[in-house]
Amino acid sequence: MCGLDCMLYFDHNATAPMLEIARKSWLQASEMSFGNPSSQHRVGDRAYQALEQARFKLAGILGCHALDLLWTSGATESNNTVFHHLSRFAPDKEVWISAIEHPCVMESAHYYFPGKVQLIPCLPSGQVDVEALKVKIQNSAQKPACIAVMAANNETGILQSWQRILEICQQAEIPYFCDAVQWIGRLPGATLGQCDYLSGCAHKFGGPKGVGFLKCPGRPAISPLLKGGPQQEKRRAGTENTPGIIAMVETLQWLEDQFLPSENVSIRHQIRNEFIAKLDQAVPGIQCLGRSTDSLWNTVTVIMPEVDCRFRWVIKMDRQQCAVSTGSACSSGHEKPSHVIRAMGLSTSHASRVLRFSSGYMTKKEEWNELLEKISVVYAQAKGQGHSH
Ligand code: PLP
Repeated sequence: MCGLDCMLYFDHNATAPMLEIARKSWLQASEMSFGNPSSQHRVGDRAYQALEQARFKLAGILGCHALDLLWTSGATESNNTVFHHLSRFAPDKEVWISAIEHPCVMESAHYYFPGKVQLIPCLPSGQVDVEALKVKIQNSAQKPACIAVMAANNETGILQSWQRILEICQQAEIPYFCDAVQWIGRLPGATLGQCDYLSGCAHKFGGPKGVGFLKCPGRPAISPLLKGGPQQEKRRAGTENTPGIIAMVETLQWLEDQFLPSENVSIRHQIRNEFIAKLDQAVPGIQCLGRSTDSLWNTVTVIMPEVDCRFRWVIKMDRQQCAVSTGSACSSGHEKPSHVIRAMGLSTSHASRVLRFSSGYMTKKEEWNELLEKISVVYAQAKGQGHSH
């Protein structure tokens, strides 16, 4: 449930309500560490020390050097920073990004590397084609400035072989950039820190909005996207969001300890699989993406049966007190078909019928059952309006 009375909330991939631990640590940091970390006095120093602790804690979770971490306003800023930086150091090179990246990776790559963005294709399974990537590396005369493949897709929840891609990039000596926004806080983060560039944000896993991080190599020092202050060793200007950062890291540590041991993750996978099995019964002809591929335990993305094209599934679900999404929050409500669904080889007709249900840690099994009932009601309404063909 969420703050709105009686509303079932299945849109955690867009954003999650703040967890209790996040609220508590945000409030405490706002009271105890409110100073400006750059100030010379002890109030400032207290905030500075709190940030340093958070930096070491996050480095421990991800397995990277604390000094390689940069605090940002969220993953959009982190991802823009990467391409901004690379365009300063390797302006003549290409960047290779997967065809299913989030728009903030896609668009910033095109912005900073106009005409030099190559797409790595995706298989019908929803996974990036690792073999095609290997062939591309073997056949290319010049190495790209980076290869960007996300850890888990936001629209489908399908997990990408980032460990394998990291190995391939390391062997080929090409920097690997992994947008891990949808993975972090849902699956263990250990070893993600081995990626050359890594981005994440707090609001997808129950932390506050407007705070994120970027892991980037120490050398050459990252070229700041935001200029006008000496903060963070001149790598990102602007007063740090101390309470947000502390709440993000405390929440992530709490999730890693409480929820991410494998038995807890498998219970959640089981709930997801049971839901999918029941959905198959309730809505004949429904197509579940990533059924036979490793997926996030919290995400079920389906293609609903073909009905009158004016039928708005998300609006109808909302009227049933249920918040779901068409795929990506950024493209919800827009008519443009999802590039992720298209990259999987599905048609624009399929893309127009995508529904995504994404849960959180506090989502109970009963809520999945209620969701199923609501989908059945809306499906009956759709059938009542008649099939289009
Ligand atoms: N990357 C992915 C995979 C996402 O799902 C999102 C948010 O939807 C972002 C980046 C952008 O994150 P933020 O909202 O922190 O800017």
